[in-house]
Amino acid sequence: MHIIIIGNGIAGSTAARYIRKNSDHEVTMISGESEYPFSRTALMYVYMGHMKFDHTKLYEDWFWAKNRINTVKAWVKNINTSDKSILLDNGQSLNYDKLIIATGSKSNKFGWPGQDLNGVQGMYHLQDLESMVAASQMGIKRAVIIGGGLIGIEMAEMFHSRHIHVTMLVREESFWNVVLPKEESSIINQHILANGIDLRLSEELLEIKGIDGKVSSIICKNSGEEIPCEFVGLTVGVSPNIDFIKDSGIATNRGIIANDYLETSAKDVFALGDCVELSAPNPGRRPIEAVWYTGRIMGKTGAQTICVEPTKYNPGIWFNSAKFFDIEYQVYGDIPAKTPENITSLYWQHPHENKAIRINYETASGAVTGFNLMGIRYRHAVCEKWIGDKTSIETVIENLSLANFDPEFFDQYEGAFVELYNEKTGKSLSLKSKRKLSKVEQFLFG
Ligand SMILES: Cc1cc2nc3c(=O)[nH]c(=O)nc-3n(C[C@H](O)[C@H](O)[C@H](O)COP(=O)(O)OP(=O)(O)OC[C@H]3O[C@@H](n4cnc5c(N)ncnc54)[C@H](O)[C@@H]3O)c2cc1C
Repeated sequence: MHIIIIGNGIAGSTAARYIRKNSDHEVTMISGESEYPFSRTALMYVYMGHMKFDHTKLYEDWFWAKNRINTVKAWVKNINTSDKSILLDNGQSLNYDKLIIATGSKSNKFGWPGQDLNGVQGMYHLQDLESMVAASQMGIKRAVIIGGGLIGIEMAEMFHSRHIHVTMLVREESFWNVVLPKEESSIINQHILANGIDLRLSEELLEIKGIDGKVSSIICKNSGEEIPCEFVGLTVGVSPNIDFIKDSGIATNRGIIANDYLETSAKDVFALGDCVELSAPNPGRRPIEAVWYTGRIMGKTGAQTICVEPTKYNPGIWFNSAKFFDIEYQVYGDIPAKTPENITSLYWQHPHENKAIRINYETASGAVTGFNLMGIRYRHAVCEKWIGDKTSIETVIENLSLANFDPEFFDQYEGAFVELYNEKTGKSLSLKSKRKLSKVEQFLFG
């Protein structure tokens, strides 16, 4: 059996590895971006000089050939599901028995005047990194970044590391406040400003102006101000990268429609990762989730279904992590920007440092539903288990030492958190003393 995988990101490359683990099938993994898989989330560190591109590779180059995974660097132009073939941009045609589409995302553009000028781009693909490096070498005095999400702030940090002045236009009145609760969003606003970024909240892009095909300024929609700049970063979200399959007959909406088994509407064609739109996502989850860890789970699940037995995709609890300049952020479970009526949200913030802990729980039952961490890291497996088991807030609070990755600070932060809980509820809980994980806990929680 010949399995072709289009895309070598975390979803496609994980599928390739697990197909090899589970079977002896012939595997061909194709990407137009790079011959070998790399970590997209690490690209910013290449720009900032902390890493070379080779350091971002998921495995050494020899790994793929040694594991009999053919790698092809080419763009797939077309899929023909009737004769089970794909056409590459070099004119070559390949036949598959099973096809996996794992083509990821592309940066959004919303039809702004001037959006195709030189010096205007998103930050998603390796080629985006390369053009950012080239533009920086040509000299950028000021970069304007449109959009206040995770990629926008990374781009701001990238330019900041090269002493390039950055202006950021954020449509919302506070940074990423569609996702972050008010307090956390406010910490990030302050932190962005403290890093010298010219943050313009409640502001949007009207138009990009250019001279000789190259960006020269932008016009702000609300203030009407014209800001001279040599670079514009469009970081207003991503969407599934599926334009090339539009004529293939495979059902799509915003993404490629896939069922619980990650099967598409076409026989023997699967979709994995960012490009997937689930037809029936789990309650509380979105049909398209463009994050690293779900891509990895999908890769493993798809390989299991193709090689071993039909296996349903199970994303586990929601998890995301990011970095806002120096502030690490993690979320486990459900922390909506606005707390629903049936949920109590306990929030503690360090008086002087950029550190905060939020724990949400159902008011009636006490079951914890989510954790938001700023500047403090909690263990994934512990939080996942507590949320999955619907553990009561009081048990969680008394055992917070199990979650904290930085045990030396545990008394300081979690002690304050318990005091907060006691103040709010009139209880007198205390932390179980600081202790090391038992052998069993170490096995469970890593
Ligand atoms: C700057 C940045 C920072 C991020 N940070 C985080 C983070 O901190 N945490 C997190 O969870 N997620 C983060 N993400 C998102 C995460 O990187 C993606 O969710 C993940 O990489 C998607 O994996 P994927 O395998 O689905 O797709 P991709 O990684 O996009 O891989 C798809 C591959 O398919 C190739 N391809 C597409 N079309 C074709 C075609 N027609 N022919 C051939 N090849 C094709 C693409 O070029 C690409 O190489 C970040 C993303 C970016 C851009």
